Amino acid sequence: MPGTNLTREEAKTRSTLLDVATYDIEIDLTAGDERFGTRTVLSFSCSAAGATTFADFVEADISQITLNGHPLDPADVYADNRITLDDLQTDNELVVVATCPYSHSGEGLHRFVDPVDDRVYLYTQFEVPDARRVFTTFEQPDLKATFAFSITAPTGWEVVSNSEAKTQDTGDGVSVWSFERTQRMSTYITAIIAGEYDVVRDSYRGAYGEIPLGLLVRKSLLEHLDADEIFEVTKQGFAFFEGAFEMGYPFGKYDQAFVPEYNMGAMENAGAVTFRDEYVFRSRQTRSAYEGRANTILHEMAHMWFGDLVTMRWWDDLWLNESFAEWAASHASAKATKYVESWTAFANARKGWAYRQDQLPSTHPIAADNYDLHAVEANFDGITYAKGASTLKQLVAWVGEDDFLAGLRTYFDKYAYGNTELADLLAELEAASGRDLSAWSTEWLQTSGVNTLRARLETDDAGAFTSFVVEQSAIEAFPTLRRHRIAIGLYDRDDAGALVRRQRVETDIEGAETVIDELVGATRPDLVLLNDDDLTYAKIRLDERSLATLVDGIASVTESLPRALCWGAAWDMTRDAEMSATAFADLVLGGVATESELTAVGTLLGQGRNAVALYAAPDHRDALRARWEQGLRELVGAAEPGSDHQLALVRAYAAAAHSDEAAAYLRGLLDASITLDGLSVDIDLRWTFVTSLARQGVFTEDDIDAELSRDATIAGQEHAAGARAIQPSPAAKEAAWDAVVVRDDLANETQRSIAEAFQVSGQGDVLEPFVDRYLQTAETVMEKGVWRASVILQTLFPRANPAQATLDRVDAWLAETQADAATKRYVLEGRDDLARALRAQARDS
Ligand SMILES: [Zn+2]
Repeated sequence: MPGTNLTREEAKTRSTLLDVATYDIEIDLTAGDERFGTRTVLSFSCSAAGATTFADFVEADISQITLNGHPLDPADVYADNRITLDDLQTDNELVVVATCPYSHSGEGLHRFVDPVDDRVYLYTQFEVPDARRVFTTFEQPDLKATFAFSITAPTGWEVVSNSEAKTQDTGDGVSVWSFERTQRMSTYITAIIAGEYDVVRDSYRGAYGEIPLGLLVRKSLLEHLDADEIFEVTKQGFAFFEGAFEMGYPFGKYDQAFVPEYNMGAMENAGAVTFRDEYVFRSRQTRSAYEGRANTILHEMAHMWFGDLVTMRWWDDLWLNESFAEWAASHASAKATKYVESWTAFANARKGWAYRQDQLPSTHPIAADNYDLHAVEANFDGITYAKGASTLKQLVAWVGEDDFLAGLRTYFDKYAYGNTELADLLAELEAASGRDLSAWSTEWLQTSGVNTLRARLETDDAGAFTSFVVEQSAIEAFPTLRRHRIAIGLYDRDDAGALVRRQRVETDIEGAETVIDELVGATRPDLVLLNDDDLTYAKIRLDERSLATLVDGIASVTESLPRALCWGAAWDMTRDAEMSATAFADLVLGGVATESELTAVGTLLGQGRNAVALYAAPDHRDALRARWEQGLRELVGAAEPGSDHQLALVRAYAAAAHSDEAAAYLRGLLDASITLDGLSVDIDLRWTFVTSLARQGVFTEDDIDAELSRDATIAGQEHAAGARAIQPSPAAKEAAWDAVVVRDDLANETQRSIAEAFQVSGQGDVLEPFVDRYLQTAETVMEKGVWRASVILQTLFPRANPAQATLDRVDAWLAETQADAATKRYVLEGRDDLARALRAQARDS
């Protein structure tokens, strides 16, 4: 029984058989709060007369099916989310009329009522296979067609889709939006955004004509929308991409909608991009948040060409789609916006994700074998996004940026409105660069695991290198050694104490040992940095002298990207039990205040907190925790009033707070009996403090209720739900467990807020009973659906208080479980975190 699954083979068979011409879709949004009306007319041809295939439609209540003028009984042909279509002709017309339920899980057509003003907001989310929750489809990316939507909705709503619309008021408070027929596109990038949204309009004029721009936002968030900044990045992005690709934007107008209760960051619906509306900042944020949002805007825009115009044939190339967008966003950000340090942010925030994921037992090749939709869903991970993007960056270094772009331009030209596979792109890149990419592709895309690079250095009495060798290693399970294009930087401390690059050598690394002749005779510097400029994807190790230089003052590395690599190396060494948690926490406390990149600041403060909570040896964990809290308090006091650092450090201090003194200080900031020069305790910072006090057991349900009455928004409700779940009491944990695991009536984002607050370091006693309950639940949790099951399996895993006894129980479960492979994958990943924490604790003792 396929359920909602679809195999690659089934998709292939269907696309061999069919050629889809048009969809005409009517959606009625006036039929009540629970369900909407939907009518699809699908025109398609079939290459084998008399053949049988199926259309997709999930959870529909179907009243009419007509194939080529003949009515079919839904009871006969609709089962298991598929409509069987027999006896096809050369040209066919399928008509399906039905109602479908609104979603509260963020999949399909999501409906949200704003608690502030009871206004209604809808949006669709279709990737991977959820257009079939809204209309009848052939749900696979290579059956492209043109779409004409007609939407009936209350007069006065905003209704947006992939193209422009004409609106007609039909009376009785109802209007119909008739959208122009779209270009040929895949079902998963079609979209409907409808409701009482406010819209801000602008337009971009460039070399290829005018693009009308729109921003949609809930009425209650409009006052916080910084449209000027968002339009600025949007226009810079269009100017950059149209120039680099030498091709105009293909989809006419460009709307960007900020929508509530969104499961992801954003989605590249053609001409109608959706973003989670946390990107409309209602409180003070650091520059890092603006930089991250600009990156997301550019990421989705890059997909308009790579993904939407030219689309993967099947989800096997999902990694390529996402990696390209990640690469293009950082590239455009650095070249065309004020966020010029985007590759530093990439190194700080994204690569760590990839390295972590790639060292889990569940790692897989970038080119994953996505044999069906369930496999695709499990692979929306750090390999697909971040390792893929790192590898693509390595590919750009390998073929050269100019040739890379030249190859892309031919690729877009050749395959516009069509579908491709990886080989089609590689062929264009080989033609443009003259480099053979077959070995590159095998080594990087079809194998798993991360290599480690370290320098083996010998010097003479005068301090000059007599030998400079780069050693490459891999772990036994994934032994592939790869070709790397890397830069090596030699840094010296100058008279002012700054670490300045004296020499940079760019070279190919291959095999276990590569001799770097160019550096023989060079004077040994204070810091040797492998993978300088972050060209490749590999863990790097620092030699003893270089490490000592960093411990002496990491901030003295003057460039942000090499500094990011040094920070990354230190964190890797800590995770790998080669550096103690104590030393890492001290390194962060010593360097974070002068780190100029706010993305690095946020990452480091999080890593420092994890080092203290998870990797500190039990016998001195309390002491280190106190030192971390006290160190942050001193940094808060010394931070420049009103600076981003002050805000980031105050947040980190609230997350670190354990002592009575810290609780009293946070209480004081909340009730304004204590003030900190330049710090505005705005609504989201209040929730940070309330959550900290709830975690410490200082604030009660009443205090949380009182805060909620000050902020009765959906964000406030989600914060309050998290604050309740984070309390260190059996009753709070029981209620949270019930909300996440047992009940199924909570909206997706509320459920996630609770889930993420459940596991807390230092609450080992109240969480103890939930170790066994987690393992029991895991046995059958997939029955709740893949999306929800993955939230439960990931967030509730008992990883916050690592202990050998927990590891033993997990191992016993793994030895006996009957759970499916996807469930075991999540549990194995949690087990790996536990085992890693115990090794790091041993190193720290
Ligand atoms: Zn993407």
